[in-house]
Amino acid sequence: MPHKHAAILLGLIVVSVIGGGLCGWFFGPAMDNIAWLGTLFLNALKMLIVPLILSSVISGVASLGDVRKLGRIGGVTLIYFIVSTGTAVLLGLIMVNLIQPGAGMDLQGGVVPERVQGKEDVGISDILLSMVSPNIVAAAANMDVLPLILFAILFSAALTMSGEPGQYVIRFSDGVNEALMKIVIWVMYFAPIGIFALVAARLGQAGGGEAFFEQLRGVGMYVVTVLSGLTVHFLLLMVALIFIGRRGIDFFITMLRALFTAFGTASSSATLPLTMECLRENKVDERAARFVVPLGTTVNMNGTALYEAVAAMFIAQAYGIDLSLGQQVIVFITATLAAVGAAGIPEAGLVTMVIVLNAVGLPLEGIGLLLAVDWLLDRFRATINVWGDAVGAAVVQRFLPAIL
Ligand code: ASP
Repeated sequence: MPHKHAAILLGLIVVSVIGGGLCGWFFGPAMDNIAWLGTLFLNALKMLIVPLILSSVISGVASLGDVRKLGRIGGVTLIYFIVSTGTAVLLGLIMVNLIQPGAGMDLQGGVVPERVQGKEDVGISDILLSMVSPNIVAAAANMDVLPLILFAILFSAALTMSGEPGQYVIRFSDGVNEALMKIVIWVMYFAPIGIFALVAARLGQAGGGEAFFEQLRGVGMYVVTVLSGLTVHFLLLMVALIFIGRRGIDFFITMLRALFTAFGTASSSATLPLTMECLRENKVDERAARFVVPLGTTVNMNGTALYEAVAAMFIAQAYGIDLSLGQQVIVFITATLAAVGAAGIPEAGLVTMVIVLNAVGLPLEGIGLLLAVDWLLDRFRATINVWGDAVGAAVVQRFLPAIL
């Protein structure tokens, strides 16, 4: 996208987020009338996800040229995912222990929210099982992206070993990818209207500004804890971007269109096409971007990881349950896994929270406490999830000369 267009578009998107917030605040549920515009934008993005993931992973992995290089780039990516997610969870635990948002609430009982009913038995093995799908077409139809990515990695590794016929398929995939990236730019032009409608309609659904403010009471400190944790993590990632990725503030400014889209859609998967385009404009090596971002979208969720830890500890504090250091270590491990297991779709983290709560014996009823404000926190954590992936692509690119 030309530089000037990108700058104007970013300006319009900023106005649309603020304008959407104000309209939702003052006009409340009436904004539901324009919700379809947001859905249209969301659908246009989602339409691109499956073909884009397949073609970009196939082209990206194939451009490495050699399966051993795949192992090395995979190793560096994995280290980045583990360190950044681990830091996020640790930060969440530090913040929640310092601020103690649930102290003195003295809750008892409650009901398990409908959304997590039937999910009580979700465990770690379910996360691992979800990585391989018995039916790749069904996975695509359900937008189950992790099995698709794993399939695409295997497929492209095999293509590189298939000589001349394999090269035809790789070139085909390159062409598909280029065409899809053009469509991404067209869809991007619709972002200001789409994001405006999404933000306005969602705040409207919450009953408008005053009603939402009312809901914030009681859990206000919890919201403050999550948001301040996410802010500190955003800054830490910025430090990693500058010192490890050797990139500056202009990288962040170019990424802003993707970050606002993550905020508007509350979905890092739906944002994936824009993340790829912004990284391309940032001139991040395609080999790094095409490998790190699709995988990171579902696996590397820094914002979700931080939130899982804060929310679980908040529930413990609210119910007056003291968690020992050993139990907090379990929260650390399970929050990381719950973030890996969460899909990049709205409020997925709320459901995988059962893994953390079950592991340390906290009441699932506590999730009810988080419901009213989750739609808002979800947007902030999706934004940090996308930011974590973007920084990851820059960091991995830095190591490419050494590993390829
Ligand atoms: N909505 C988040 C995302 O798409 C996931 C979550 O619920 O935390 O990144």
